[in-house]
Amino acid sequence: MRKNIVAGNWKMNKNLQEGVAFAKDLETALAGKTLKCEVVIGTPFVHLASVASATKLAVAAQNCADKASGAYTGEVSAAMVASTGAKYVILGHSERRTYYGETDAILKEKVLLALANGLSPIFCIGETKDEREKNAHFDVVKRQTVEALFNLSSEDFSKIVIAYEPVWAIGTGLTATSEQAQEMHAFIRQTIADKFGKEVADNTSILYGGSANGGNAKELFACPDIDGGLIGGASLDVEKFIPVIEGF
Ligand code: PEP
Repeated sequence: MRKNIVAGNWKMNKNLQEGVAFAKDLETALAGKTLKCEVVIGTPFVHLASVASATKLAVAAQNCADKASGAYTGEVSAAMVASTGAKYVILGHSERRTYYGETDAILKEKVLLALANGLSPIFCIGETKDEREKNAHFDVVKRQTVEALFNLSSEDFSKIVIAYEPVWAIGTGLTATSEQAQEMHAFIRQTIADKFGKEVADNTSILYGGSANGGNAKELFACPDIDGGLIGGASLDVEKFIPVIEGF
């Protein structure tokens, strides 16, 4: 059965001490609550090991290298990420695609390395405003999925979590309507079913990301093909993150 997941993405925010304190505070605040989803914290690289040992909550890196090891100054490999205790790695975030030139071909390599090191990729896909206005959003999302993920075996694909994040909704306050999000999630699930079969598609967690918060999470998460969220801004404060987690 597919899992409900609410994953925070801190991006380049919080120093190490703030990150560790946040993780402990979140864990304390969640203790005793009956959670209907897995909670994941996506931290900068330098926080990973400390946060992973300070909390039982699942931890995600926000990136990993497209090379296994060697002379790549400044890069952090999937094996290094896995050695910290992180369970997930966010790959293909639109900020990585836009600001750091990550292509489908690069992301394909990152996905393979993440899986080879026992990490589950939270793989981000989504169209820009311009692409939606040109009615190209389904084609873009399909291309991003096919190019980076459809070389995988069914067994490996079943370790992938998809995050549909319309670029025009990230950090803008312009959340996709639940109808727009559900329509795209159903399309993504059908695209997966066409390649890997209905069972694999039904078991794939597909998260929504883009200005999700405590005010809209419940409506989004009630949609049949939305299995949780990738949360940026609203994951930076415990008081704002908990209502999203409680959207389930
Ligand atoms: C994100 O960065 O993945 C994201 C969805 O950000 P925000 O929630 O701030 O739109």
